[in-house]
Order: sequence, then C-alpha cells, then structure tokens
Amino acid sequence: MNKLPSKDRDYGFGTLAIHAGATPDPVTGARATPIHQTTSFVFDSADHAASLFNLQTFGNVYSRIGNPTVSVLEERVAALEGGRAALACASGMAAQMTALLAILKAGDHIVAASTLYGGTVGQLGVGFERLGIHTTFVDPADPENFRRAMQPNTRAVYGETIGNPLVNVLDIAAVAQVAHDHGVPLVIDNTVASPYLCRPFDHGADIVVHSATKYLGGHGTTMAGMVVESGKFNWANGNFPDMVEPSRAYHGVKFYETFGDFGYTMKARMEVNRTFGAVLSPLNAWLILQGIETLHLRMQAHCRNTLQVARFLQQHPKVAWVNYPGLPASPYFGLAQQQFRHIDTPEGKLPGGSGILTFGIRPRAGEEATPGAAQAAGERFIDACQFLSHLANIGDAKTLVIHPASTTHRQLNEEELQRAGVSADMVRLSVGIEDVEDIIWDLDQALNQA
Ligand SMILES: *Cc1c(COP(=O)(O)O)cnc(C)c1O
Repeated sequence: MNKLPSKDRDYGFGTLAIHAGATPDPVTGARATPIHQTTSFVFDSADHAASLFNLQTFGNVYSRIGNPTVSVLEERVAALEGGRAALACASGMAAQMTALLAILKAGDHIVAASTLYGGTVGQLGVGFERLGIHTTFVDPADPENFRRAMQPNTRAVYGETIGNPLVNVLDIAAVAQVAHDHGVPLVIDNTVASPYLCRPFDHGADIVVHSATKYLGGHGTTMAGMVVESGKFNWANGNFPDMVEPSRAYHGVKFYETFGDFGYTMKARMEVNRTFGAVLSPLNAWLILQGIETLHLRMQAHCRNTLQVARFLQQHPKVAWVNYPGLPASPYFGLAQQQFRHIDTPEGKLPGGSGILTFGIRPRAGEEATPGAAQAAGERFIDACQFLSHLANIGDAKTLVIHPASTTHRQLNEEELQRAGVSADMVRLSVGIEDVEDIIWDLDQALNQA
C-alpha cells in the first residue's frame, strides 16, 4: 500500500484527512496507526547509529527528536495544508514559539496583527520582548499598516486567518506581498479556519502554525500544536544566515543547503524542539489524528450550524449586533469569499465562516446601556445556559460560550478592552455540531432570562 499523498492522483481533502502519512503497520498489519509509546529506538548497528546522528539517514532515535506516531500526524497536516513538511509540538503556544525561534534571535523584530489571540499577544509582546525580540502590533484591517511598521531588522510578519475573538479575516495575499517585499516570511496561525476552509500557502503564506487543540483535534480532549512549511521561501536571500551557515546547535549542518525545501522544518526540529523540548507525546498525536479523520465533516457542520445561529441571533430582540464572517452583511464576507472554501448551506453555496461568532447582548428593558449593565446582562445570559458549556476553549464538537469581559479579558481596563475589540456586552460562541435546533433553543431561553 502506498502512502498518501501520491503522484498517481490528486486525492481529495477527506481522503487525505483519513489516510495521509499512514500505511498499515508493516510488522503487525494493524490498520489504525499504532501508538508508539516509547522514548527510544534500537539502532541496527554502530554505523547506523552514527549516520542517524549525522542526519545522513532518516530514522528514529529518541522521541524528543521524532516518533513514528507523531510523524504520521506531521505528514498528515503537511498534506492537508499543501505544505512540504510539518513539525508537531506540545501545544499551539509551543508551535508558535518553535516556528519563530527557528528564525529569530535577540535584536530581531516581528510585525504582527494587533487582533491576535490573547495568549499570542502575551507570548510576543512580553515573553519574546524579554528575550530581546521586539514586536510591533498593527491594525490588520489595512495590509499597508504592516508595511509601515517594517524595519531593517524585521524577520517575520505574523497574522491569523480568522482572529479570535474579533473574527476578523486577514487579506493573506496582500500581507504576504508586504513580507516578501522585505525578504521575510509570512507566518499564519490557521487555527480558526483549519486547512479545510483555508490553505494560507495558496495565498502566499510561508509558514502555518496551528493550535491542533481546537478544530484539528476537534473534541476538546488534547493539547497539541503544528508548524508547517510551504517549502517555497528562499532562506538564502541574505536575511537568514543561520539557515545557511553551519549550525553551532547541530553538528555544523547547513540546514537550507542540506535539506532544501524542508530545511526550515529540520532546523525547527533539531535546534528548537530538540533543545527546548516542547514536543508532542505519541498518545496525544494519535488523539489528534483520530480527530482529523472527521475534520472535513465537522467543519461543514460547524459552518452550517453557525450560519443558522447567526441568522437566529440577528433577528432576536435581546441581541444588539452579530459578527460572523460567513454572513453576507459582514465586512469580512468579501475576504471570506476569496479565501475560504465554499460549502453547502441552507442558503446555498457560501464561504464557510468557521464556528466562532460574537454577539452583543442588550441590557434589560428600562436599564441604561452602560458597560456595567451590559456586563451584568452577559453574566446572567451565561448562567442561564443549560447545555452550552461555559469555558475558555474553541473548536470543540460541543457548543461553548464565554463572556470575554468578565473572564478571559477581565484584567484589561476599558481602553485596553477597546483596543482588543472586546466590548462589555460581547458574548463569544464556539458553535458545536449538536442539533442546531437545540443550540438555538438554549440560546433563546438564556437570552430571554438575561
Ligand atoms: C488556542 C489558540 C492558541 C494557543 O494554542 P494552545 O493549544 O492552547 O496552546 C493559539 N492561537 C489561536 C488562534 C488559538 O485559538
């Protein structure tokens, strides 16, 4: 049996989601990917060991460097993204860190969207800042804002396909152009769209990162992250001497010259994951693989349900506003149309907008529309939900609900909230794949109590 993808046929997304990177186990015939729960692998001979350590032969040494179960996940996600190679990490945060530390060092600079996931703003703005890597955050609504912030020492541009919680959509091609005009890669966090809805490489991105914790795993069970490389970026353009010159961190290997279109992934694996250690366990890789087998079906269901929920909320008297990129009235619908897979919905073929939407709750009749009243209404709504889960995750098969101003963004003052795009009345839904009539029923009864 041949491993997918193959040259014989351009297999569809669903086939790759189920097969890419895996073949039946050659020893036992096991059809499902085995969980190789081992730290280390026996060498054939002293020569074999030496050539593995010299990176002359590919093979297994130690699970911090690579593991056969984890490799299947890496090949599968690379195939789904249309990339050349991938590296799995312990979480989405670890994946972003690994992706950036593979090419950045103290004194370098990043230009990033200001609307990134809060954890990422902290990682870049505080964590990396302490390492001497400075980030300028810009409003991503205008791609030219990225250009205006570029510096001679800028070495990466960073954005999200769909922002969280603003659910804003990035013009990936335009921002990629800015990055490439400066000879640096565009790194895209594709967590919220997933490769089913959007493949950032098709629009010019060079590196994709994922919190596989979300839609790839899909069931809220497992932390994991992915780094994927397009294989198209020219690392020998003078901006990345560490990709070209002999590595002090690994046997003097020249990563770009030796490994070419997957040299970046090898550097991330050998210099960052191997030395900083945020690797994915085989069991967690297996759980994410299991999730990915239904990614295409789940994403269609998430998109269809979310569109119906958005329509319901739009006409609800207790709802002030609804923000969902899959709604034709959304300011991001045009970009969604260009960049996202179109799927069958009750309203015909529409670009899939993923499963996250935000809406504003109106204060009680007779109550003044102050931030305090909006916040109280948000908290009452959350407490009235029956099966919708109140928690700080997205991308689960279960519908999740949170009121950012009283939870994830509680520490921010009013000005900071405004900059993050979080209003006191904002509720964020991660719409699951339960029966949509039941989701709408729970929302309706909770809104009427709020
Ligand atoms: C959750 C999330 C992350 C962080 O991933 P973890 O797996 O929680 O470490 C990064 N980016 C986005 C967009 C996320 O939603």
